[in-house]
Amino acid sequence: MRTTEFFIPTLKETPTDAVVISHQLMLRSGMIRKLASGLYTWLPLGLRTLRKIERIVREEMDKAGAIELLMPAVQPAELWQESGRWEQYGPELLRIKDRHQRDFCVGPTHEEVITDIARHELSSYKQLPINFYQIQTKFRDEIRPRFGVMRAREFVMKDAYSFHLNEDSMQQTYERMHTAYCNIFDRLGLNYRAVVADSGSIGGSTSHEFHVLAESGEDAIAFSNSSQYAANVEKAVALPDTTARPAATAELSKVETPNQHTITDIVSFFSVEPKQTLKTLVVHGNPDEQGNTTLVALVIRGDHQLNEVKAENIHSVAQPLTFASDAEIQAQLNCQPGSIGPVGLSIPIVVDHSAAHLADFICGANEDGYHYTGANWDRDCQYTTVADIRNVVNGDPSPCGQGELVIKRGIEVGHIFQLGAKYSKELNATVLDEQGKSVTMLMGCYGIGVSRIAAAAIEQKNDDHGIIWPDAIAPFQIGIVPLKMDKSEQVKTTTEQVYQQLTAAGFDVLLDDRDRKTSPGVKFAEMELIGVPHRIVIGDRGLAEGTIEYKHRSAEDSTTVPVSEIVDFFK
Ligand code: ATP
Ligand code: MG
Ligand code: MG
Ligand code: MG
Repeated sequence: MRTTEFFIPTLKETPTDAVVISHQLMLRSGMIRKLASGLYTWLPLGLRTLRKIERIVREEMDKAGAIELLMPAVQPAELWQESGRWEQYGPELLRIKDRHQRDFCVGPTHEEVITDIARHELSSYKQLPINFYQIQTKFRDEIRPRFGVMRAREFVMKDAYSFHLNEDSMQQTYERMHTAYCNIFDRLGLNYRAVVADSGSIGGSTSHEFHVLAESGEDAIAFSNSSQYAANVEKAVALPDTTARPAATAELSKVETPNQHTITDIVSFFSVEPKQTLKTLVVHGNPDEQGNTTLVALVIRGDHQLNEVKAENIHSVAQPLTFASDAEIQAQLNCQPGSIGPVGLSIPIVVDHSAAHLADFICGANEDGYHYTGANWDRDCQYTTVADIRNVVNGDPSPCGQGELVIKRGIEVGHIFQLGAKYSKELNATVLDEQGKSVTMLMGCYGIGVSRIAAAAIEQKNDDHGIIWPDAIAPFQIGIVPLKMDKSEQVKTTTEQVYQQLTAAGFDVLLDDRDRKTSPGVKFAEMELIGVPHRIVIGDRGLAEGTIEYKHRSAEDSTTVPVSEIVDFFK
């Protein structure tokens, strides 16, 4: 590609509404533009990266035996009413009406649609197991869209759904997907961890999240420093028995406090120092049989006295619940200001230690900034109770008995679930087994945030000059900057030749062919801003010696390479 025939609208100034580096750099490098809150156009440069991520995801899904299809983005309300989620999903679901006043939603996820396909198209155990996937645009009306495409409202997801005759089969495919995800994130060139997670509103029991490590991550994850990346990959093949381990949510439900606890009781239960550390307290209803937690959740924010529950410091997690006054809290929750509960349920208490508020550890966010304690531990970090892990810090011995705990921040880029019969039961998706008996299929589902990955990769690798792309997802792998091409015939001919050779060898090359009105300094700066990992400079001085200059994006200095060897150099 030639710069003069492409479109890279870079910005000199950092847009003021972009707070995280990836958002700033994606805007500055001309990858994306904002249309409205949480809605972004992928400009040509950004789209190249997005397509490369998609390609890797697609190839690994195909390799793992999944079959691609494409479902509609718009989904009829009837299906969501059947699954019960029309009522349960809350305001993140964008509901729309057609001209006949019929209800639809713009799909935030596709369990209902795929289960509808399955119940119509699958009739025999002989067709199982089967795993369908798509790469498609989702819409979630996020309460706080932010960080650009990282938490957008419209975004690209790869979502896969598998169907099974029995639990063994479901677990086998789950492990196969786990391995495929490791392969994907390896190929993308990202530093990531797979961690045990909470399954949130999607439901089901066993679930793992994949996190790209980055300081700006919204979640904190804990893992043992002895189960390093390579070991993780190996383990992904020879997995420990994950079913033997209690799921994070199961652990959570053990932490029930009797009704009528005062905040002081709760604080002492978690042995946190009131004013110093506890700034956010989440009280959450137990998940029901479908795994949905919709009752009451309180978040008490701020530096106020903990025995003083102020309405403005209370936010709900599951459903918006606003309280105008202490009297209203008292009436609605049947409790005194300064005490919590009863609300008609046993209430697990969950403390949010997210770094935005405090240090230490947290986990499993399904809603921005709200986290379950005890989730997001990698598969080796077994634990027994929340009490065991509430006070861990970096360097503590790992609960797995190997190595020390490392607590880092992560960006959730993938999430896999064993759903069981959650959707197939509601939608009555059955097949006939070997004996001719009708059985409800079991399901797994597997998501990857394709568009979020682009931002996460930038969060993980950048410097003062701009993005540093891993080769696999760089919009261009090699950038050529010729010096005074319009003056020197030799530079011009060599540049053309090198450009043709590298392109023919299969590299994505960006040739900055702008004339001398654009200074070399500006060209170098732009190559760095857009993150091209390999740069070559072709000038008369080097050519006099038969060489061109090469520099890796993250290297300090450049080296020289003979013109004749340039293609081999990159191979
Ligand atoms: P989060 O905790 O960040 O809100 P989630 O748990 O709600 O994500 P899932 O339902 O697990 O998301 O969806 C699968 C993947 O889709 C996530 O792992 C994430 O990478 C991506 N994703 C989810 N919400 C968004 C969003 N608003 N913008 C971009 N990507 C998203
Ligand atoms: Mg999540
Ligand atoms: Mg979410
Ligand atoms: Mg998730």
